[in-house]
Amino acid sequence: MTDGQVHILHGVGASAGIAIGQAVVIDMRKIERYPKLKIPEDRVEDELRRFDEALALSQKQVAEAISALEAHNVIREHVLILEAHLLMLKDPALVDRVRTLIATEFINAEWALKRAIEEIEKAMDAVDDAYLRSRVADAAFVAERLMRNLTGRKTGSFHHAHNSIIVAHDLSPADTAMLNKGMVLGFATDVGGMTSHTAIIAHSLEIPAVVGLENASSVVNPGDTIILDGISGVLIVNPSESQILEYQNRARSYLSMEIKLKEKAKEPAVTRDGKRIVVKGNLEFKEEVKTVLDHGAEGIGLYRTEFLYLVRKDIPTEEDHFEAYRSVVQAVHPYNTVIRTLDLGGDKFYSALNTIFSERNPVMGLRAIRLCLKETGIFKTQLKGILRASHYGDTSIMFPMISGIDELHQAKEILEETKRELKIQGIPFDEDIRVGIMVEVPSAAVIADLLAKEVDFFSLGTNDLIQYSLAIDRGNEFVNYLYEPLHPAVLRLIKFTVDAAHNAGIEVSMCGEMAGREIYTPILLGMGIDSLSTNAYAISHVKEMARKINIEKCRKIVEHLFEMRKASEIYEFMTREIMENTHDLFDLA
Ligand code: PEP
Ligand code: MG
Repeated sequence: MTDGQVHILHGVGASAGIAIGQAVVIDMRKIERYPKLKIPEDRVEDELRRFDEALALSQKQVAEAISALEAHNVIREHVLILEAHLLMLKDPALVDRVRTLIATEFINAEWALKRAIEEIEKAMDAVDDAYLRSRVADAAFVAERLMRNLTGRKTGSFHHAHNSIIVAHDLSPADTAMLNKGMVLGFATDVGGMTSHTAIIAHSLEIPAVVGLENASSVVNPGDTIILDGISGVLIVNPSESQILEYQNRARSYLSMEIKLKEKAKEPAVTRDGKRIVVKGNLEFKEEVKTVLDHGAEGIGLYRTEFLYLVRKDIPTEEDHFEAYRSVVQAVHPYNTVIRTLDLGGDKFYSALNTIFSERNPVMGLRAIRLCLKETGIFKTQLKGILRASHYGDTSIMFPMISGIDELHQAKEILEETKRELKIQGIPFDEDIRVGIMVEVPSAAVIADLLAKEVDFFSLGTNDLIQYSLAIDRGNEFVNYLYEPLHPAVLRLIKFTVDAAHNAGIEVSMCGEMAGREIYTPILLGMGIDSLSTNAYAISHVKEMARKINIEKCRKIVEHLFEMRKASEIYEFMTREIMENTHDLFDLA
């Protein structure tokens, strides 16, 4: 806990920018320990009153969150989720059951709540209905809030977050999806790494974020003034006047640099030796498409469609898919939109599906294409939505997490079957739609020459490629230091994939976070990558770097880098090169 003293915490700058504001602390760690007590009969009334107070407080918090979200015109699904929570907080099956357990079994409110929730979850689990099963997660969320209010812990609620900085132990993709642009200034989390999904959402909201701070949520108190520096990954708690002044200045110069870059963002990026470099945008929500295009994206290189699922509790219908994709494809046309099929599982946990399979190691488990090939009904529903949208603008389909030829064949077979069904129904779609895969599992990179013969394009997903090839959990703050995009093993996998693609005459792009860091741009272009796709904020930076370099010279530099043995050596070389231009990388002569 802070004592009014200045504290400086170091983490990973996951989304650039500087924010200065008041902290809202959200501690959503699951409460595993709660008091389990037998109570004397004469305490029953007191215990019932305690439960009623916690219930009323929980209802008030959720209702306030709903009004705050509505006032900000946010994505409707977010409000619907909270409305479902409010209904559950009023549901007699929960409320009356807890009261009965307290009054008849003489147990304290926490224990009664735990038992009532377990009964509800068991009943829901037994039903063979995806919608009802999806409500298990709602029940758990509601129980957690009630338990926190009963035990007097911080509940944290996003509606207090206007113009504040959120400090949390962790934010799930669904939590972060609830944070709307304009509502929060930035966020800081104890856990997470550079490419964790919380970091990706921070980029898409264009707010600064620092992750992997380890203990920020216990050090910071609600209401503390904090400085969040997403550029260098620092959180300053209770800063001095002079620190505030210094960071206000830094924020101003950062902003003016951003404005300058943004002015040039829509101009094409042409290297000094005349090669036109295409930079596309990554998209998580259909609502972001205008922002991404305004930042100069020449197409969408990765539409992460799983966020369509993560912000709602039921399973989207074919119409839901179709409407979302059509609006994006139309807005992006004549540029191309690469729609990636579902990548649920791993840390993109989706209660309506992923709770069915309880997995000990979900990142290595039934994730992405594996889940789709098991739940083919859900896969086909999405494919139909994508195919139908392809009639309205240039569209490509991309399969995530392909690890071998068999998997690709199965996915393509289901796609063909879906096309046949649409044809029979007489529904129009682009019959020559291009099909590509993410190269993000090391086995796919190693057999890239074989896979290249089967698809129209590759897109390198370095977030996972690094995670799996270096055996580093991309969201784990304790092994962040080993997450090295410049590791020679990673560079070799990338180079092999690029060469395999070109030998087969197909295009290769990159859509992992590595594509959005300008220090890597000369290396990636020197290796021959055809296009880069990144978050809105990074587009102008990458374009600006591309404008400065000479591709031929970058090719030579890459040859030189391949003689180096360590990521640190390569990093130091690149930093020196960029700062001092010692090898004329930038061809300034
Ligand atoms: C990747 O793995 O690099 C990627 C772009 O996919 P995601 O971050 O959604 O896993
Ligand atoms: Mg991935």
